[in-house]
Amino acid sequence: MSREVEALRESLDVLARNAASCFQPELQAVFRAIDPARFDALRHSPVALLAGLDEARLAELATDRAFLARVRAARSHLETYLADDETWADRWAGGLGARPVAYFCAEFGLHESVPLYSGGLGVLAGDHIKASSDLGVPLVGVGLLYHHGYLTQRLAPDGSQLEEYPETDPRTLPIEPVDGVEISVQLRDRTLHARLWSMRVGRARLLLLDSDVPANTPEDRDVTAYLYGGDERIRIRQELLLGIGGVRALRALRIRPSVYHLNEGHSAFATLELLREHVVVEACTVEEAIARVRRAVVFTTHTPVPAGHDRFDPALVLEHLEPLARSVGMSDDELLGLGRVDPGDESESFCMTVLALKLSRRANAVSALHAEVSRRMWQPLSPGRPEHEVPIAHVTNGVHVATWMAPSIQALFARHAEPDWTGRQADPDTWGIVERIEDVELWATHCELKRELVRWIRERAAREAERRGEPSAVVAAQRLALDDDGLLVGFARRFATYKRATLLFDDPEALVRLVGPRSGRPVCVVIAGKAHPRDEGGKAMLRAVFQASRDERLLGRVVVLENYDLEVARRLVCGVDVWLNNPRRPLEASGTSGQKAVLNGVLHCSVLDGWWAEAYDGRNGFAIGEGLVHADPAVQDRRDAEDLIRVLRDQVLPLYEERDAHGVPRRWIERVKRAYRTLAWRFSAERMLIDYVREAYLPAAGLLQRGPSGI
Ligand SMILES: *Cc1c(COP(=O)(O)O)cnc(C)c1O
Repeated sequence: MSREVEALRESLDVLARNAASCFQPELQAVFRAIDPARFDALRHSPVALLAGLDEARLAELATDRAFLARVRAARSHLETYLADDETWADRWAGGLGARPVAYFCAEFGLHESVPLYSGGLGVLAGDHIKASSDLGVPLVGVGLLYHHGYLTQRLAPDGSQLEEYPETDPRTLPIEPVDGVEISVQLRDRTLHARLWSMRVGRARLLLLDSDVPANTPEDRDVTAYLYGGDERIRIRQELLLGIGGVRALRALRIRPSVYHLNEGHSAFATLELLREHVVVEACTVEEAIARVRRAVVFTTHTPVPAGHDRFDPALVLEHLEPLARSVGMSDDELLGLGRVDPGDESESFCMTVLALKLSRRANAVSALHAEVSRRMWQPLSPGRPEHEVPIAHVTNGVHVATWMAPSIQALFARHAEPDWTGRQADPDTWGIVERIEDVELWATHCELKRELVRWIRERAAREAERRGEPSAVVAAQRLALDDDGLLVGFARRFATYKRATLLFDDPEALVRLVGPRSGRPVCVVIAGKAHPRDEGGKAMLRAVFQASRDERLLGRVVVLENYDLEVARRLVCGVDVWLNNPRRPLEASGTSGQKAVLNGVLHCSVLDGWWAEAYDGRNGFAIGEGLVHADPAVQDRRDAEDLIRVLRDQVLPLYEERDAHGVPRRWIERVKRAYRTLAWRFSAERMLIDYVREAYLPAAGLLQRGPSGI
């Protein structure tokens, strides 16, 4: 191998080994240029692409001056990014310094090629890490390495969900084994072992525990095989590894966090390990230890329904945690009491959310409305306090701009602003520059994105229908009866029943009148989503939606795509005209896909739930209904279904169809610009992270923030 070839391989390796190469567009572009078709087939994984890159192609690239220049630029871009010492955090959160935030989550959705997520929670955690890297907030993520990740979805000809669980080869992930570190957790009858992997995510780091080691029983080797796949017993062991194993992993690497952030209750056992440390190492009483643990722990709850909170049978808890309880001199009842609203109530199961609420200094929900619901739900934990004084605040979710905003739109903004606006995305002024962009220019950029998306949907939907063996007329119809001028509506998310994917189909005749053959501009709807493998209700909804889309009059107007993932999400939120969100209020804690849409000049049309309840101002999108809740869900569903059709027919479509002499929808664009101005900064992951730093991390680290606002 010549020196040039060697040097090129080394540079590409450096780029690929940082997960930033998955989501920074400049870095992705380098790998795409090597072999676009294979890159697509490998789900845009730089590591996988490099692993299979043959010497001949590498040698050829080493003589391609333009490519070499591109690699040099990308490497310098990454190195400059990593070395930046004037980040937001350097100025405003410098005190965190060498004592990072430990951020625990059961899933991390960083990129389609890193399948360690199932849906919104994971994508949020991924965006949280990315924003911490951009802002320079020192943060170490703690999670699990799933060998099969979440399910891969196919649909049967009748719309039934077919699930596959392809194995992830760790060599295709941007991770490194952490040698010489073994984590173990003592159960009642044996020890659970795990190894550790480390991923660099820009400046941040993600530690992943993996139970697939020879020291474990075959059953325990499979603890981290599937994401949310196992029974109660697997699940409690996953959570034991995540929480207790996670704290031990930090210790093994001599990382001493100043703050422990539990993102959802799955990792709440971490508090028990911290408690144990205080008792055993510092000789505290359990009571003192609890007070100390609480000082450093921050908890985010994501679930507005009581049944959605993780609970375990007391016997199962004791089987797994008795050794820990004994080591600190805690009785079974004391241990179980930490997971019960009423510690003395033996009929209560052990709830991870209760544990997290009891052992954290600060709990927050993920939107203002969700905080209200959570305060009501957990009021019994604050006896004697009125609901509004229950100590659960909120930090509304936000999304990572560089991940979710189409590169062409980023370029458009960059042309009108200073080029590097990372670190200033939470500043409203940053987004005010949308007013400097000509309507025509913004519209042309959007139309190009839509054209690209329609091409992609056509190809993919037809291919999927063909594989299902559907009639050729149906296959042909998947080529989408949409030209440039048509209105494209998107709906994609997990098929949890409360998200009501079937709402649009409630009155089939009304839907046919709206999207079926009509004079005026065509209207199409594209739908995607996975149901949890054990959620029969969600699967039934998926089947119903799929079958409805096979109504002759809706063929080619309503298209259902398989295997929703980060890539499908990214493509859809970049290229549709309207993003639909119609959960049953108040069950959507926040929702984030609509925030991604807003970044791309796509108008959000949603029930006033989650983030939209605090975001909608009458002119920055569309509202379905008036934010009412009915005691009878059936009544609420019917009312919302009618409203949904009404809003699309009477507000969305007329505004979209209203054009000037050049075919530009001026008033539509006015709304798009207003959405950018009023929403993009508020619902960016940078704003979310800054809120966490100010309201949670700095106080927990004993560093109260003072002085000017600093964004
Ligand atoms: C953003 C995202 C979600 C969350 O979508 P909601 O509308 O908030 O439910 C789920 N899955 C993927 C792949 C996403 O990118």
